[in-house]
Amino acid sequence: MFERGIEIKTPAQIESMRAAGLVVGSALALLRSVVASGMTTAELDTIAHDHIRSQGATSNFLGYHGFTGVICTSVNDQVVHGIPGTRVLRDGDIISIDCGAIVDGWHGDAATTVAIGEVPDEVTALMRVTEDALWRGIAAARLGGRVSDISHAVEATVDAAGDYGIVEGYTGHGIGSAMHQPPNVPNYGRPGRGPKLVKGLALAVEPMVTLGSPETRTLADDWTVVTTDRSWAAHYEHTFTLTDTGAWVLTELDGGKARLAELGVPYGGH
Ligand code: MG
Ligand code: MG
Repeated sequence: MFERGIEIKTPAQIESMRAAGLVVGSALALLRSVVASGMTTAELDTIAHDHIRSQGATSNFLGYHGFTGVICTSVNDQVVHGIPGTRVLRDGDIISIDCGAIVDGWHGDAATTVAIGEVPDEVTALMRVTEDALWRGIAAARLGGRVSDISHAVEATVDAAGDYGIVEGYTGHGIGSAMHQPPNVPNYGRPGRGPKLVKGLALAVEPMVTLGSPETRTLADDWTVVTTDRSWAAHYEHTFTLTDTGAWVLTELDGGKARLAELGVPYGGH
């Protein structure tokens, strides 16, 4: 059911989104555990594809506007939308892996950034602040609140952590019977604005943060988004919903229970 263009899911539909979210969450956990120096990004894509298939799910990335992978693999100064291929990962690289899956027509979407071997402390800090911003964004969401409450919490978290760039050209989004739906969820802005946060709404929150300028450009492959100043970027994403009892992070294996508890926020899953 759509209200003013925003899809409101039934509890049963949210359960299907949880099933899709678990496929995505387990795929990312698998990729995190196997990614290593010497692997190509195409090998990661094959592992993800096999996993999605083994779970009886399908990929929402493959064929999306002609995209050729089931994951996006964005290395170092690549922010998002990198295409899996022949690039070989090396010690000291970071890779952002974005993955999605469909179960019974319902979508999940999440991303994580992983370091290959040792990386400089400032890169570790970049990854930590980006992931922290994601969780604090989700933790700021309340039934009856507004979408930009999330945006504001993401921005405030990054700003408080140091001199980072918040990419503004790409945003989080509504998700449900399609991967990308209204409303947009920007990673910056004043709180108390935008659509109301209601039961049955599902959102993908996805901060993209750089060590330098927030400006980006798209490579000649028409997909890969890189920072214009070549500074490195991190990208974390989860799909979540709000229930009567709190937030439920559909793409996190434990539903977000542990991270939300750390932030003193009630858990809304089961
Ligand atoms: Mg994604
Ligand atoms: Mg997304």
